[in-house]
Amino acid sequence: MSDRLDPRTEAARRAALFYLVGGLLAVSLGLGLAEAGAQRTAFVLLGSLDLLIAALLHVLPWRRWPVAALYALIPPTLAVIVLFELFGREPPEVYFAFFMVVGIWIGLSLPRFAALKVSPLLFVAYLAPALIRGEGHGALLAALTDIPLCVVTAEVIARVVADLEGARGEAERRARILHAITLASRDISRLSSAEVIARVFDSVRMLGFEAAALTVAEPERGVFRIAHCFGFPEEFTQGVYPLQDGVTGQVWREAQTVVVANYRAYPAAVPALRDSGFDFLIAAPATPVPPPRSVLIAGHRRHYRLTDELRDAFELLAAHAGIALENARQFEQEQDRARAFRESALRDALTGLGNRRHADAVLANLQPADGVVMLDLDRFKEVNDRDGHAAGDALLRELGEFLRLSLRPQDLAARYGGEEFVLVIPAIGAGLGHVVERLLAAWRARTPRTTLSAGFALHRSGDSPQETLRRADAALYQAKRSGRDRACGESAAW
Ligand code: GH3
Ligand code: MG
Ligand code: MG
Repeated sequence: MSDRLDPRTEAARRAALFYLVGGLLAVSLGLGLAEAGAQRTAFVLLGSLDLLIAALLHVLPWRRWPVAALYALIPPTLAVIVLFELFGREPPEVYFAFFMVVGIWIGLSLPRFAALKVSPLLFVAYLAPALIRGEGHGALLAALTDIPLCVVTAEVIARVVADLEGARGEAERRARILHAITLASRDISRLSSAEVIARVFDSVRMLGFEAAALTVAEPERGVFRIAHCFGFPEEFTQGVYPLQDGVTGQVWREAQTVVVANYRAYPAAVPALRDSGFDFLIAAPATPVPPPRSVLIAGHRRHYRLTDELRDAFELLAAHAGIALENARQFEQEQDRARAFRESALRDALTGLGNRRHADAVLANLQPADGVVMLDLDRFKEVNDRDGHAAGDALLRELGEFLRLSLRPQDLAARYGGEEFVLVIPAIGAGLGHVVERLLAAWRARTPRTTLSAGFALHRSGDSPQETLRRADAALYQAKRSGRDRACGESAAW
């Protein structure tokens, strides 16, 4: 469209060209006359006036004026032709040719039936020289045949031009649809789903819609909501709607494209959308398997001329959007699985605490003054033997829960093996012993099936984590040996 001249400017340029040719002809005719006289002067003057008008037509800002402004060119043009005739007395064919040129210009430049509307003016102008000269009778007959011929020619041309314009408009529209679809599908496999959806929305815009939304049904909750959108009001896009509402509901039920030409009268209209003035809506399933979990909606506030091609194009765009959503969903599921796998690799399934691998990873980063505590349930085997393995498991779970609640977020509690646990308490320094004693006392206060023994050590600079762990383990051994249900550790840690 943009490389085409504005039709009004084009029409004015065409008129300018006719004036230019007419002007040059008149001037050269005048100058070519043998004797200087009134006729010569008239030809030269009229020719110069033509050239002046041609220049004026060329520079005037036609695109700022309505098409009707072009009608204003007709009376002065006819006046110039009449003046030529009065001064020049051309043969009748030449005079008629001038009117044909005007008719052709009208056919090319003005809407259909314009020539018919101005035909009285053409008629009067055609007769004017004869009337002025008092030779009306013969001229009337000529006018009665020539002007209808002129008008019919103009109308035939106008009709052909209108058909061509229509065909060009149609071709441009098809090219636009094709472009819109190509744009949406290009690189679809390489783009993120957000990018694909943005492309789909751009394409929906190219199809001439004012707004679009991708709705997602949540059948387990019986609702749908809007996942992505542009152009629709916030009151609508922020909402969550019953699954039977709106065009999404209808597409959900029927699993096919729904077109609503008068949304105000649509029985299942969503009020927030209806009140925003959108009157034309089209909605197509974005996911191929019925019922469609996702629906692409596009809207227009005024009438939208939906052709079969536009509808096909829209359905294709909906499918693109669906692929993007499905990719996003699969990607998220994979992310979740990977996250769960990562977490399970470091987690103890029974207690929910970290496992030995997790503990080793934390121990590897011990800093001086960090506290390491080994905990071991006393005579746990007896719990198993007396109350059963399930009761033993329950006790392990209880201890896990107790440690989780007793420690701060920065502390680590992990099940190191069997009924043995390790704690890492960062930057605790002296005072570790008191913390561990309080912990054992709190456990004791719960009157559990069995008590806990603990050995602790502070990490020292220059020592390996294994060395610190070994010292904590040795302290635990000491606690067991000296009667259990107690905490042992080096004096520096008290
Ligand atoms: P001590 O006071 O010396 O630590 O005595 P204990 O009985 O706790 O120690 P011992 O090492 O002899 O026994 C540990 C028991 O823990 C043996 C094993 O059956 C039990 N055990 C290890 N893992 C689990 C488990 O996941 N569930 C249950 N129920 N028991 C477990
Ligand atoms: Mg034990
Ligand atoms: Mg043990």
